[in-house]
Amino acid sequence: ATEAEEKDLVIVGGGVAGYVAAIKAGQAGLKVACIEKRGSLGGTCLNVGCIPSKSLLNNSHLYHQILHDTKNRGIIVGDVKIDVAQLMKAKDTSVTGLTKGIEFLFKKNNVEYIKGTGAFQDEHTIAVNLIDGGETSVRGKNIFIATGSEATPFPGLTIDEKKVVTSTGAIALQEVPKKMVVIGGGIIGLEMGSVWSRLGAEVTVVEFLGQIGGPGMDAEISKLTQKLLTKQGMKFKLNTKVTAGDDSGASVKVNVEAAKGGKEEVLDADVVLVAIGRRPYTSGLGLENIGLEADEKGRIVIDQEYRTKIPHIRAIGDVTFGPMLAHKAEEEGVAAIEYLSKGFGHVNYGAIPSVMYTHPEVAWVGQNEAELKAADVKYKIGSFPFSANSRAKTNLDTEGIVKILSDAETDRILGVHIVGPNAGEMIAEGTLAIEYGASSEDIARTSHAHPTLSEAFKEAAMATYDKAIHY
Ligand code: FAD
Ligand code: NAD
Repeated sequence: ATEAEEKDLVIVGGGVAGYVAAIKAGQAGLKVACIEKRGSLGGTCLNVGCIPSKSLLNNSHLYHQILHDTKNRGIIVGDVKIDVAQLMKAKDTSVTGLTKGIEFLFKKNNVEYIKGTGAFQDEHTIAVNLIDGGETSVRGKNIFIATGSEATPFPGLTIDEKKVVTSTGAIALQEVPKKMVVIGGGIIGLEMGSVWSRLGAEVTVVEFLGQIGGPGMDAEISKLTQKLLTKQGMKFKLNTKVTAGDDSGASVKVNVEAAKGGKEEVLDADVVLVAIGRRPYTSGLGLENIGLEADEKGRIVIDQEYRTKIPHIRAIGDVTFGPMLAHKAEEEGVAAIEYLSKGFGHVNYGAIPSVMYTHPEVAWVGQNEAELKAADVKYKIGSFPFSANSRAKTNLDTEGIVKILSDAETDRILGVHIVGPNAGEMIAEGTLAIEYGASSEDIARTSHAHPTLSEAFKEAAMATYDKAIHY
C-alpha cells in the first residue's frame, strides 16, 4: 500500500450521483478523488441502464415501425431483417462514447479517477483494491457514498444473465427469444419487454399489483398504456404472483397464481426477466468498520443535507432514499456539493419527472389522482387526446392523452400525466410549471408553436378551467 493522501472529498462510486458530485467538486476548487470499480464511469445508468436500454428501445421501435407502419405512409420496403449483433454494437458505441466523455470531464475538472473497489478502513480513510492489481488508500476530509443499487433477485431462480436475466442480461441477449416471461410490470419490465416483443418474442408480463407501471403511474394512464402495449402484442397477467421457478431444464418454468390465491399455472419461457425492483448496494463497502448501518430496505440513512450520522460522510443517489432515477441522483450530486462548499443546497423532490420510454412514451410529474384523493385535495382534471392534435395527426401517431390535475381552488398545477408520442420531452414543461408554481391558466395563455405536440399540453391546461378548442 502507498502512503495515504488527504483530499477535501473522496467519492465512492462513479455513477451519475458520484460523477456529477465529482465534477461539481472540481469546479468548486475542491481536491477530489472518485473511486469506481466497474472499469468505466457512469455507473448503472450509462453502462447497463438508461443509455443501453434507450438505444435498444429506439432501434427496436424503428424496426417495428418499418415492419408494421410504412405502407399507409406511402413507403414500400423490401426484405426487412434484424441483425442482433449489429443492434448490440450500436448500443455499445453509444455507451462507450458517453462513458469516455465522463473520463474527459474528470480530467477537465481536475478529478482524480481511481479504478478499484473502495472500502472504509476508518471514518476518513478508504482502502482501495485496484483493478490493475495492488492496493492503495486515500484519505478524505469528507466522503460521499454513491455506490448505487442492484437488481433484487427472485428467490428460487438463479440469475445466469442468459436464461434467467436481470436488465443487465436483457440488454445483451445474443438472439431474440421465442418466449419471454417478465416478472414485474414496472418500468424495466415494460421497457425491456417492449424491446424483445418488437423484435419478435412472445412476451408475457406477470405483475403482482392490479396495474402496470408501478404505483406512481396514474391509474387511468396505466390502463390506457396497457391497452396500447397489448395491441402491440404484449400479454399481461395482473394481480398475479410468481410462486416458484425451475431453471434446471432447457427452458425455464415459472409457476404463477392469482395474488389472492387460486389455481396455479405454469408458464414456459426461453428467457425469464426478473424485474421486481432494485435495492441499494453497499456490499463490501466496510460500513461495519465505521459503525454505519443501513435501514431495513438497505438504504443509508441521511438527514436533509445528505449527512449520515457521521457528519462528514454523506450519501446520495440510489443508495439512499427517494426514486431510483438518474436525474434525481444528478440533482443530489449537485446539492450535496453545494451543502459542502457553500452551506446550502436544494432539491425539489415534488418536481422530479418519471418517464417510461416505451412507444408511446409515458411521463408524469407531481401527484396522481389516487395520491390527491388520499391527501383529500380537491382538484380539477383537464385532458386532451393526441387524436385531436394536428402534429400527431400528420405523424400518424395519435395514441394517448395529456392529463393535467390542478387545484380546484387556486388552479395551481398539481400533476401532469402523459401517454403519447414524445411524452418524455413534453414532461419538461409540466416539471417547469410545477417548479414555478404555475396555474393551468398560465400554461393555457402561453403561446405554443403550431403544429406541435405541445399544443396538446396547452389544450389540456385550458380544459382544466375552461373548454379545449380542438376537442
Ligand atoms: P449507480 O449508477 O448504480 O452507480 C454506482 C456506482 O458505484 C457503480 O458504477 C458501481 O460499480 C460503483 N460502486 C459500488 N460500490 C463500489 C465500491 N465499493 N467501490 C467503488 N465503486 C463502487 N433512470 C433514469 O432516470 N432514466 C432511465 O431511463 C433509466 N433507465 C434505467 C434502465 C435500467 C435497465 C436500469 C437498471 C436503471 C435505469 N435507471 C434509469 C436508473 C438509473 O440507472 C439509476 O437511478 C442511476 O444509475 C443511479 O445512479 P447512482 O450513481 O446512484 O448509482
Ligand atoms: P419497479 O419498482 O419499477 O417495478 C417492479 C414491479 O414488480 C412492481 O410493479 C411490483 O409490483 C412488481 N413485483 C414485485 N414483486 C413481484 C412478484 N413477486 N411478482 C410479480 N410482480 C412483482 O422496479 P424495476 O422495474 O425493476 O426498476 C427498478 C428501478 O429502476 C426503478 O426504481 C426504476 O425507476 C428504475 N428505472 C427507471 C427507468 C426510467 O426512468 N425510464 C428505466 C428502468 C429502470
